[in-house]
Amino acid sequence: MIRWLISLFFLFSSFSLYSDTAFKVIVLGCGGGPLENNLSGYLFATKDSEDFIAVDAGTLLSGIFRAQARNSFQRIPNDPSSEFDPEATILRNQIKGYLISHPHLDHIGALVINSPIDTKKPIFGTSFTIDSIRDHLFNWKIWPNFGSEGKKPRLNQYQYQRLKMLQRTPIPELGISVEAFPLSHPDGYQSTAFLIEYKDQYILYFGDTSPDALEPKKRIRAVWERVAPLIRANKLSAIFLECSYSDRQKVNELYGHLDPMYMMEELQQLASLVDPIKPKTSLSGFKVVVTHIQNTLLKQASARDFIEFELNKLNDLGINFFLPEQGQKLEF
Ligand SMILES: [Zn+2]
Ligand SMILES: [Zn+2]
Repeated sequence: MIRWLISLFFLFSSFSLYSDTAFKVIVLGCGGGPLENNLSGYLFATKDSEDFIAVDAGTLLSGIFRAQARNSFQRIPNDPSSEFDPEATILRNQIKGYLISHPHLDHIGALVINSPIDTKKPIFGTSFTIDSIRDHLFNWKIWPNFGSEGKKPRLNQYQYQRLKMLQRTPIPELGISVEAFPLSHPDGYQSTAFLIEYKDQYILYFGDTSPDALEPKKRIRAVWERVAPLIRANKLSAIFLECSYSDRQKVNELYGHLDPMYMMEELQQLASLVDPIKPKTSLSGFKVVVTHIQNTLLKQASARDFIEFELNKLNDLGINFFLPEQGQKLEF
């Protein structure tokens, strides 16, 4: 009996180790507009660290206030000697850099507005993203130049770091690496997906994206080809994927975004790559975080309710869809 109990204990402890998380994510903003205080912004950290990279920066400080109210930052000690509110201290000290998927305002607005109280740190993005921020935002016209390049970069608060597509870029301060993939968003406009790696465990974040079915280049498929082997090896913790509109939106009014029908179509493609023989079970229980829901502000049911209903209705793959809330802490 005792021997049985001991083996049960070891079985249980090895299960806990196995199911241990690699990443945590604090949701600073998860909407796709038009509410300006809940736009794309996610703090990613490895499980034992409170040093974050902000993946997109549409909302920062107002999301940090929300997250504080929900105790999502409980491991950060409050410093009574600091002259700043704890929320500002988190922005200043715990966000170690920014990783921007594309330069649309709903992904960088808070980076600009919060810059006067922020500290020196890098901004990572593709050349298109960085050059757009340099030329059109931090240029002493739209906003003072807080960047490291461009017109009179004397403040030099944000160091521009250009990511090469499909190449692994280490971010040593955080112990992670990032791989960037081009996305269509649409009419030749470039957005990015990021595959973040920590100790051979991965998490995938999509910026805004058109469905492949509506684009000449099959860019989502290229991302799926990269991650399918990781899913097979149980190394991909979750996918953050946008679903801006409900299926009630007309196809010619998607403006470079996904709806539940196209989202499921893309995930079916992934399922077939993960296991061509049994695609219907290859993503069973896999976590997909649904981002960038556009709030219609109609009096009837919210876009979120419609999208949740439609996704669950179409979900014949057993995917674990999760619609996050602002301020939440997620662990993967
Ligand atoms: Zn966009
Ligand atoms: Zn967007």
